[in-house]
Amino acid sequence: MTNTETLYANIRAHIESHYPLLYLVTFEEQQADQLITQLAAEDKHKIYEWNMARGVVDFQHKQPLADYRDLASTLENWLNDELTQHFLVIKDAHLAMRDNPLVITRLKALAHKLLHDDDTNATVLLISSQACIPPELEKFITLFELPLPDEANIRAIINRFVDRLDDTIDSKALADLTLAFRGLSEHEITQLLYRGYQQDGHVGSEDIDLVLKEKEQIIKKSGILDMVSSVEQLNDVGGLTQLKTWLKQKANVLHNLNEALAFGVEAPKGVMIVGMPGCGKSLTAKATASLFKLPLLRLDVGSLMGKYVGESESNMRRALQLAEAVSPCVLWVDELEKAFVGIGSGGAGSEVATRLFGYFLTWMQDKTGAVFVLATANDISALPPELLRKGRFDEIFYVDFPTCAEREGIFTIHLQKRNKNSVAIDVKKLAEKTDGFSGADIEAVVKEAIEVAFVDNRTALSTERLLDVISNTFPLKEVMKHKVKEYEDKFKDLKIKAAS
Ligand code: ATP
Repeated sequence: MTNTETLYANIRAHIESHYPLLYLVTFEEQQADQLITQLAAEDKHKIYEWNMARGVVDFQHKQPLADYRDLASTLENWLNDELTQHFLVIKDAHLAMRDNPLVITRLKALAHKLLHDDDTNATVLLISSQACIPPELEKFITLFELPLPDEANIRAIINRFVDRLDDTIDSKALADLTLAFRGLSEHEITQLLYRGYQQDGHVGSEDIDLVLKEKEQIIKKSGILDMVSSVEQLNDVGGLTQLKTWLKQKANVLHNLNEALAFGVEAPKGVMIVGMPGCGKSLTAKATASLFKLPLLRLDVGSLMGKYVGESESNMRRALQLAEAVSPCVLWVDELEKAFVGIGSGGAGSEVATRLFGYFLTWMQDKTGAVFVLATANDISALPPELLRKGRFDEIFYVDFPTCAEREGIFTIHLQKRNKNSVAIDVKKLAEKTDGFSGADIEAVVKEAIEVAFVDNRTALSTERLLDVISNTFPLKEVMKHKVKEYEDKFKDLKIKAAS
């Protein structure tokens, strides 16, 4: 069965079992309409539709059937109507319910009527681009999501489009475009085909640029993902040799993926980098994208959290779909622990976190798109143990405060980055005097010493000047002594591989 067939069978089973409110998340109202028409035809259901723009309309032609009524009064009518074999379709459902207690309570009353009144037989179908379920309705609603077109669907959409225009497309262009369109909705694909066709009267590989630009737009608009442009290279990361060697190995696999897969190598899934703040986790994420020669998408975990039931999951789903849409790419999930705070604590946030987590795990397990996940986290104690289990990520690395030799390397990197002659500076001595400093502390020392040298009559930067700044700096390890000890114990306990 295709994804759409499975969904159809599932919805049908729910209708037959008299589930009162079915919530369908989709960006494609047309596709939802087709599905509803098909469902209605089988059991001769009558369809009433309300949408935000025009009120109650004829389902087929979308023409208003009466003067505009808001959803609350339409629901009042439906509550008083005799409902037998009816589908009550509500479009723009999340907008109509948002901050509208009357709508919510009338939907609840309708759900009760559908459940308990034997003379009534109807199903409410809430259609929306976002899953935002008010908590009061949660137990009455079942959530479904219309799948995005898979590769076979995308090929069919392109072929249909080309046929309609009496154009032709060669098999290479068809394959390239199919790949580029992955992760987009049917509507988005059709729009892009039109734009590509308008540009030069032909649909072909030359339209891929257009698709990539559109994907960038979608990402910007989503507010959940950013496209990070990174100039950082692996050479800009001091120390962390084990981690860097591991990443280079994965780069080799990714750059020869087909050959590697044929050889029996598993496709790289992702890596989790946990550990002390300011020690190069984010820097490594950026350098990894450059090493892999892939775009870097940063997922802002904080922005996933919505106040409506289902909103956070819906945001996460969209973010992961978007990442698949731009794949191959590196998806950097920064501060991963924030998404899963409170799992198992039993609070209201805990259920959302648990569902988000479940969704994320399943996606990690099943993801087919070439998305390499790079997750970073400080507070490992907030992460559920299932996430740390091997198999989710290819590897988990622990980044500690840099050793003396590593600090030497980090000083050299930051001096050279600012065009300072690191040979004239005794970096060994600096490293010896900076026990407990993070990479970020070292960078701050270099920056400040250069500024002081500039202000002090533009003198050349000297080892003494740097030592001066060091003696006036409280390293992070000092500042967060208790937390550091706690982290160190946890990492030891969990036996996570050291990045150095
Ligand atoms: P946080 O957990 O607070 O986000 P982080 O581990 O992600 O911290 P980064 O943001 O990578 O830390 O580090 C901050 C800055 O410190 C980097 O931009 C870089 O300039 C410097 N730095 C940290 N670690 C290193 C390192 N190993 N080599 C070179 N520079 C480093």
